[in-house]
Amino acid sequence: MLDKSNRGLVLIISSPSGAGKTTICKKLIEEVNNLNLSVSVTTRLKRSDEVDGKDYFFRSDKEFDDMVAQEKFLEHAKVFDYSYGTLKSEIDTKIINGINVIVDIDWQGTRQIEQHIPDDIVKIFILPPSIKELEKRLGARATESQDSFKKRMSEARKEISHYSEYDFIIINEDIQESVNKIKTILYSESLRRHRQVGLKKFVDNLI
Ligand code: 5GP
Repeated sequence: MLDKSNRGLVLIISSPSGAGKTTICKKLIEEVNNLNLSVSVTTRLKRSDEVDGKDYFFRSDKEFDDMVAQEKFLEHAKVFDYSYGTLKSEIDTKIINGINVIVDIDWQGTRQIEQHIPDDIVKIFILPPSIKELEKRLGARATESQDSFKKRMSEARKEISHYSEYDFIIINEDIQESVNKIKTILYSESLRRHRQVGLKKFVDNLI
């Protein structure tokens, strides 16, 4: 019998903010078994609909710097003047135990994670269907002042320019369709030979 205990994978999802990434990640967590969302640490202010420990761990600059010094991060980067980081503890033991993890991070963090664990990651980039749609979604965020809206639009363009560093590209025209595409990617990637840890024993028995 094949030992079905797979090695988990890290599904890196990047996009400009406003492309629908957060909604897609939340839906994936609801709909897919054995999939966890990595909660990042950030120094930015909490939005009114966010919960500390669920959406992010909201920390001060000093607390963030201390965590960097203690080498708690798998990656960390400055995005829009604030610091963001992925905790090693959100990833390490999970993938060893066969749990898949989604990380919602920018292109800088993606490059860093790729250096540490290249075989454990799958990189997906989500594009908005048009720049008009992106403007609409970013403009609808009540927390954005006019200035930060402009800044976010220019950051969005920069983020988009890194799309070619990713394995899979999804144009988010419909949330459920995008979620279904990512489910397909996850399913196929879990069948990769190196993720099927019991395979060698199984094949040895076969032959
Ligand atoms: P927001 O402040 O809108 O939640 O996120 C802003 C950007 O920061 C998003 O593009 C998001 O992917 C990125 N981000 C969130 N968490 C992390 C993280 O832990 N590391 C990195 N490098 N980027 C992150």
